[in-house]
Amino acid sequence: MKMQNLYRQIIMEHYKRPRNKGLLEDDRYVTEHIRNPSCGDDVTIQTLLADGVVKDIRHEGSGCSICCSSASVLSEVLKDKPLESALEVSRQYKGMLTGEDFDADLLEDAIAYQGVQDFPARIKCASIAWQAFESTVKAGDDDE
Ligand code: ZN
Repeated sequence: MKMQNLYRQIIMEHYKRPRNKGLLEDDRYVTEHIRNPSCGDDVTIQTLLADGVVKDIRHEGSGCSICCSSASVLSEVLKDKPLESALEVSRQYKGMLTGEDFDADLLEDAIAYQGVQDFPARIKCASIAWQAFESTVKAGDDDE
């Protein structure tokens, strides 16, 4: 129960005071927008990649607390990571949501969404920001 309270605190903290929020007018960022009609969630993620590193992530959007907070958590957890590590965190996160084995240490604060796996209707809420992030790095992938 204690862990669940901690997780809820992380989620509410990011919902109330989102990090890295607000989009930038900067061509170097790759932007991806995703909607979740079932919940009204609407997320835009902007990623700045340089030298194989996620230099910056911005987000904007509206929706439920799970969705909005997860964009903020994502931006904080993935920022300054090498792209390969960021994609690995994303893979582990999706595994966690779908009840597969995952590496808790890699997830940092994103572990707070572990309980979402018990609420299938909310899995989409918790994953669209991550899905948008993956699209930004795939869209911006010119080198490989
Ligand atoms: Zn939602």
